[in-house]
Amino acid sequence: MRAMEIIDIGCNLTHDSFDSDRDRVMDLAREAGVVQMIVTGASEDGSRIALELARLHRGELFATAGVHPHRAAGFNDASEALLKQLSGEDEVVAVGETGLDYFRDLSPRDVQRDVFLRQLNIGIESGLPVFLHMRDAHSDFHAILREVRDQLSDVVVHCFTGSREELHDYLELDCHIGITGWICDERRGTHMRDFLQEIPADRVMIETDSPYLKPRDLRPRVKSHRNEPRWLPWILNSLAEARGEDPEILAVQTTENARRFFRIPAL
Ligand SMILES: [Zn+2]
Repeated sequence: MRAMEIIDIGCNLTHDSFDSDRDRVMDLAREAGVVQMIVTGASEDGSRIALELARLHRGELFATAGVHPHRAAGFNDASEALLKQLSGEDEVVAVGETGLDYFRDLSPRDVQRDVFLRQLNIGIESGLPVFLHMRDAHSDFHAILREVRDQLSDVVVHCFTGSREELHDYLELDCHIGITGWICDERRGTHMRDFLQEIPADRVMIETDSPYLKPRDLRPRVKSHRNEPRWLPWILNSLAEARGEDPEILAVQTTENARRFFRIPAL
């Protein structure tokens, strides 16, 4: 039997917490069955470095190009030009991370909305799928997305943390849903376990969002707070359990979804 092959669709591998041991982190991920990863671009520099990293590991790593809503206040015409340029590169497989985050409100909300729409337009022009972030901003996020949905190709709401109603709003817009270790957090994520099985099999993907969101129930316990792509099987298993599915079948399905969504060949 072939070993399990899974894809981490959201890994912030450019984060400086990986600077001292990035190769080792990748080795451990491979050993855990993580065969490919999409490296999230969340800032101008981060998107550039994600592309460089993807070029160093062709076929295994891919990059997105975007500016996170936290950084929307610094977004200008030069940012837009850079993202347009990056979105034309072979290793860049999606526009984003972009979206709205009203939980931390690190940029003014009207600026977040404007910068979100500008990046959605890059998705429209390039034809690339978009990688979206939404936290505590469903109503505005959904309204903006709905307006342009027909012009976009594929859409993933990454690290989905919302309610059943919000989930169905996104599914109605034919969005894909990215699931992280948030569902492993008994303080705030277990509400989702009741409706995770309502995500159609061909719309669900998995991600760690490393180095953030280490699964809180990870066993054996690991001292470091840093999340790593090697914990992706833990998230897969939690999701499979909540959906009442065989993890191996879910692995095959989510990998197939990720390759179709990001248009990447098997390694
Ligand atoms: Zn995010």
